Amino acid sequence: MAFHAINPVDGSTILTLDNWGASRLSKAMDVAELAAGPWAGTPIKKRCDLLYKAAEVLRARQEELATIITREMGKLIKESRGEIEKCAWVCEYYAEHGPGFLEDEYIETDAAKSLVTYQPLGIILAVMPWNFPFWQVFRFAAPALVAGNTGLLKHASNVPQCAQAIESVFKEAGFPVGVFTTLMIGSVQVRGVIDDPRVKAVTLTGSEPAGKSVAEAAGANIKKSVLELGGSDAFIVLDDADLELAVKQGVTSRYMNAGQSCIAAKRFIVVDAIADAFLEKFKAAVEDLRTGDPMSVDTTLAPMARHDLRDELHKQVIESIEAGAKVVTGCAPEAGSGAYYQASIIDHVKPGMRAWHEELFGPVAIVIRAKNEDDAVSIANSNDFGLGGSVWTQSNARGERVARQLQCGAAFVNGLVKSDPRMPFGGIKLSGYGRELSHHGIREFVNAKTIWIK
Ligand code: NAP
Repeated sequence: MAFHAINPVDGSTILTLDNWGASRLSKAMDVAELAAGPWAGTPIKKRCDLLYKAAEVLRARQEELATIITREMGKLIKESRGEIEKCAWVCEYYAEHGPGFLEDEYIETDAAKSLVTYQPLGIILAVMPWNFPFWQVFRFAAPALVAGNTGLLKHASNVPQCAQAIESVFKEAGFPVGVFTTLMIGSVQVRGVIDDPRVKAVTLTGSEPAGKSVAEAAGANIKKSVLELGGSDAFIVLDDADLELAVKQGVTSRYMNAGQSCIAAKRFIVVDAIADAFLEKFKAAVEDLRTGDPMSVDTTLAPMARHDLRDELHKQVIESIEAGAKVVTGCAPEAGSGAYYQASIIDHVKPGMRAWHEELFGPVAIVIRAKNEDDAVSIANSNDFGLGGSVWTQSNARGERVARQLQCGAAFVNGLVKSDPRMPFGGIKLSGYGRELSHHGIREFVNAKTIWIK
């Protein structure tokens, strides 16, 4: 598939670009190979200085870059601005802490001197999605580049201008040519890049089928891979929850980015005792959301990124309703040429329904009623995904007890699941493996090498 950017607001074409052919791709790989050795040998302080510079460039170009994001994939302009700021933060975070994370680690053994040293692997391929088209890339690139690796980006085919703009940020910051390269290729060309002996590892953020395909290719080549895949995070509301807070944060978590976040609250698991009270307040807040132009500050619910994704979401919703789920609000596409979907809630979701088992990647909350705390935990853990989860209760001790039982990579108490450069991020089960961010993230793509001297 070629790159095809369509404005989700009205379906008009912004840009189409052909994928690179074999010789253009091969040239870019040659340049990346030439850059890899010198970059690994560049003092880490210099690599960090360039990353600080990248943060400056991001901030200086915030409005321009945010506008590209909003035009190509439709998120609200204030969310796009926030995304660019978060990218600047992760650059500064690794520029400041990266050297410490990678310091030699001395360990006492029977040797005169024994230590672990962290060395770069070389060229890393990053296959990235459109939903946070800058953030997903920078949370990979900042630690990888500080560690002395070089990066190749294969971005999603609906965000070509984001893909090109990201490369331009590194260029403007002064990174040498070939240290970070955007490959304008389609997903069918990914296998060839992973097979290329110059590429040492791959990371993918995206769906489960894409993850399987990339993991198979990496496995066939015995290359390291990290997978950040889908999620269907539980949002557990217990009988002693502060309902106002849970509703406010639940609406933000589920409907920001038009519901297209891997760590959005997707399954609202609510105990019977407060289920009706919660739902009444939640419905009122959801019905207050306003669709419209994502460039306008008055809009609170963005269009979805693509019409085909909107139509697939609607199918999941309709089939769940046909199987017995109850409509609380919404549950239809908005009229017109945009990829809008109404802010929706379905209740009484049960096993066997698509909404129970699958990820709903759009502005639809599903409500599942639980008998009590234990039942809520067991429902939360019955899902095949294991990315994040949250629990809402006025007792922190109770919240922590539940958080510790949730089968996922990040469990929050009285807070919506979010990524933060200081904390590791990633999933278990079908949500993938490996971690990004914090010191865990920077150590994914290094050789933790033992040195032993008698
Ligand atoms: P997607 O269709 O899997 O696409 C993601 C990337 O993978 C795109 O660059 C895509 O390229 C590429 N791709 C697709 N199929 C491929 C294949 N067989 N081989 C190699 N590359 C392939 O996912 P999406 O619809 O863009 O993103 C939504 C999904 O990502 C959701 O499930 C969401 O939960 C997940 N996600 C997870 C995280 C996390 O951190 N865990 C974060 C964000 C999103 P093309 O565009 O050219 O097809």
